[in-house]
Amino acid sequence: MSETRHTKVLIIGSGPAGYTAGVYASRAMLNPILVQGIEPGGQLTTTTEVENWPGDTEVQGPDLMVRMEAHAKAMGTEIIGDIISDLDMSERPFKAKGDSGTLYTCDAVILATGARAKWLGLPSEEKYKGFGVSACATCDGFFYRGQEIVVIGGGNTAVEEALFLTNFASKVTLIHRRDELRAEMILQDRLKKNPKIEPLWFHQLEEVLGEDNPTGVTGVRVKNVKTGEISEVPCKGVFVAIGHAPANELVKDVLETHMGGYVVTKPDSTETSIPGVFAAGDLTDHKYRQAVTSAGMGCMAALEAERFLAEHGPSDDAAASDTPKAAVDA
Ligand code: FAD
Ligand code: NAP
Repeated sequence: MSETRHTKVLIIGSGPAGYTAGVYASRAMLNPILVQGIEPGGQLTTTTEVENWPGDTEVQGPDLMVRMEAHAKAMGTEIIGDIISDLDMSERPFKAKGDSGTLYTCDAVILATGARAKWLGLPSEEKYKGFGVSACATCDGFFYRGQEIVVIGGGNTAVEEALFLTNFASKVTLIHRRDELRAEMILQDRLKKNPKIEPLWFHQLEEVLGEDNPTGVTGVRVKNVKTGEISEVPCKGVFVAIGHAPANELVKDVLETHMGGYVVTKPDSTETSIPGVFAAGDLTDHKYRQAVTSAGMGCMAALEAERFLAEHGPSDDAAASDTPKAAVDA
């Protein structure tokens, strides 16, 4: 049996953007529903120390997200563990199908689906995913106690992952295609001072090497991008940290995107090209991609949704009622 739930504001995503939108939309008495998706709490649940969230000199990412969820809930956001598989924005009320079978209808929607780790796309990477190849050091680092590990990438994520992995590994090789890191200076400084980390500059991953019985990684084949020379680095774990791509699957065919799939919003606004559809956080942000900027955009989206509803009122559809309607499509 499926049900239909109507809300004035539907928030899709439970990262800093989604939960902040929940706090603001609740305080505007809009009784929002927030659908969490496959990763409740978003990207910060895959990291350890967060040192740039204002008010906390240091806080564990998962703890911060538990607090944000509790805050949104306390203000009145209804938080639902579901994944939106389809979103129809052709007319109001907008319709979002949940994997659970629930149909969510809403007068305004805030898209806060964030971003996901990118992969290199090598067949050997795919083959050993879950058997030595990972994109999450906090999830899988523990398995490599006393082993050698390589990390691919040169951004904040790669350097943080490399540093974190030294808690377990005997040696971490950071493989980067240039000799300059994108990571913040404070992280670069820690990297340089860590005796367990050895950078391998101007190299890119060509192939993950491994064995089949049991399936596992034994090393990587890398290429010097300047000389073309091929060499091998022995390791048991490969952590790919080459950036994130916006999670735009629900809207990429309908909303304008740019810079590799980020949803376009109007200048100084979270408004998209469809009135009543707002986008916040890493889904729209190719530039800063920080927890605090995502939270800021979540705030903007809720304030803009409030203004939109004040001007345009609820959807015409008679189905638009704040009362949950159960068992419609039995
Ligand atoms: P996300 O956090 O990406 O959350 C997206 C949410 O959308 C998830 O809850 C997901 O389940 C949901 N979702 C996706 N698709 C659907 C769907 N179809 N239906 C329903 N829900 C859906 N930033 C900092 O400022 N400081 C740091 O120290 C820091 N450390 C980081 C460490 C790592 C390892 C990583 C990967 C990122 C780090 N960042 C850090 C960046 C920060 O995590 C992001 O900028 C921020 O989380 C983006 O927030 P968001 O709300 O836009 O989306
Ligand atoms: P990123 O900043 O985009 O860095 C990606 C890195 O991977 C770059 O060094 C890039 O190389 C490299 N790369 C990309 N494609 C590659 C490929 N095909 N082969 C080899 N290398 C490749 O991504 P990120 O580190 O995941 O960070 C994403 C966002 O989250 C950033 O805004 C970051 O600030 C934020 N974040 C913040 C923190 C924090 O505040 N502590 C922690 C983690 C993440 P080039 O440099 O040569 O382009």
